[in-house]
Amino acid sequence: MTNQQNGQSKERVHRFVSKDLTLRIAAVDATEVVRHMQELQNTYPLATIAVGRSMVGALLMAAQLKDDQQVGLLFKGSGALRSVYAEASYNGHVRGYTPTPHYHPESYENGLSLKEALGIGTLTVARHLPFQKAPFQGTVEMVSGEIGEDIAHYLHQSHQIRSLVSLGVYLDSDGKVAKAGGILIEVMPGVEEEIVDLVQKNYDTKKPNISKMLLEGATPADLVKPFLEGIEFEELEHEKYLEYFCPCTKDRVIRALETLGEEELQDMINKKEEVHVTCQVCGRPYDVTVPEVQQVKERIHKESLH
Ligand SMILES: [Zn+2]
Repeated sequence: MTNQQNGQSKERVHRFVSKDLTLRIAAVDATEVVRHMQELQNTYPLATIAVGRSMVGALLMAAQLKDDQQVGLLFKGSGALRSVYAEASYNGHVRGYTPTPHYHPESYENGLSLKEALGIGTLTVARHLPFQKAPFQGTVEMVSGEIGEDIAHYLHQSHQIRSLVSLGVYLDSDGKVAKAGGILIEVMPGVEEEIVDLVQKNYDTKKPNISKMLLEGATPADLVKPFLEGIEFEELEHEKYLEYFCPCTKDRVIRALETLGEEELQDMINKKEEVHVTCQVCGRPYDVTVPEVQQVKERIHKESLH
């Protein structure tokens, strides 16, 4: 299926359910796949946190879908990061991307808050089966730009699901991913309000910090415990191992060349050199021959005449 050996992970999303079935929970240590994303795209701190949290969020949401279904999260804002994309499948595939991996603020005075970096904008969520033409899609305003709260807002607005989303990406002093993970607690209809109050109280009093817990060696089951203290729950089977996976093809990479425009393509043809293009999302290299560049140029020339 893929030759990206080092994109594979021994981790998986762990799923839990409360004994009364009114809370469903997903928790993950996604350190390896987020680290892999950073290695491929050489993301700077704010981009790493934004893409990393989005990947974790997408993985947690996808684990609540069905076989082969996937979810894509697109954050688009007025800030310097412009956009952040992450996609994950029920089967554990995940990828993430931002067009601004090297953004860095003038100072890190505000710490690693994404609020300004993403700015004001929207979160669009697409849920679909691979190759399905019309995905289910919903768009909401971003409420904080910190990813987790925005996902919770989306779930409430679009699916009337109350939830608690806590995501953490911890960087070491060199800005490299040390830990990444998160948990998603969804409240199902018919829940007793005392249960909801208890989760909220646990959250408010314990203030569980995902990345700190992971740094201290917590497993996904350990991440869940402080949130669910006083509530009985059990783990569900979900043997889907995480893998950084990109479904790019040479065709799509060649299509991306169209954006260069006729002039630049002609320049490439004149030089008679094979073009080396790498997919920005996964780093896979593709060689494009001069006749192939010629075809792209002819295609956009034809289209420009319409
Ligand atoms: Zn790719």
